[in-house]
Amino acid sequence: MINELKILLEMQKRDDTIGEKELLTKMLPEQLNSLRTNLRNAEEELTLVKHNLEENLKNQKMKELLIKENTDKINKYKNQLLSIKTNKEYKALNSEISHLENRNSDIDDEIIVLMEEEVILRDELAAAQKEQSRTEQELRNNEEKLKNKIEQVKEEIVSIRNERNKLAEKIPINLLNRYAALIKNKGRKAVVFNLNNACSGCGFNIRPQLVIEINEGVNIVSCENCGRIIVNKPQDEN
Ligand SMILES: [Zn+2]
Repeated sequence: MINELKILLEMQKRDDTIGEKELLTKMLPEQLNSLRTNLRNAEEELTLVKHNLEENLKNQKMKELLIKENTDKINKYKNQLLSIKTNKEYKALNSEISHLENRNSDIDDEIIVLMEEEVILRDELAAAQKEQSRTEQELRNNEEKLKNKIEQVKEEIVSIRNERNKLAEKIPINLLNRYAALIKNKGRKAVVFNLNNACSGCGFNIRPQLVIEINEGVNIVSCENCGRIIVNKPQDEN
């Protein structure tokens, strides 16, 4: 194989690696974002459960106060009963007392429902606190690692790109332009292989005459369908 083809092949290897690493530079920040989102969701859930529990306790306290107010009234009315003169007044006051007693009994039932809810909310709170610390820990454990990894991959890309550019200096500009256009337009694949007499880039069959030329490795042979440069796969590679 002539030197230009060997160089193009080497450049393609670098571009393959750059492609993989660029994918990583997208995936790693997504991983980091997803850890941050998990923590934010856990914090929101914790805030919500805390709020619900506070409301529940506030409600219980309010109802207890109401019961106390009613009880005070009941006691006051019961005292008044002792000094009442007419039957009519007696009946009215008695009915007010029994109304308040019924009311208190209802409020008591409501408090019991709230207390049952409180038990559930406290369980939810414990679970939300656990999830919050878990996601916080997970982010703390991985944030630096992921940030470093992202930086590392970016540096690797720069370094591999430099290697590729150095290789590019060794081939004629028209060939380089052709390579660059293929990389840009053909899914980052400019140099492909003869795979059982078909283009490994698009699967198009290679004419026998072109197969011979590829085997000779002197001319730069392009796929007649996709335009990619076809070479034979070097023997020492899989
Ligand atoms: Zn092709």
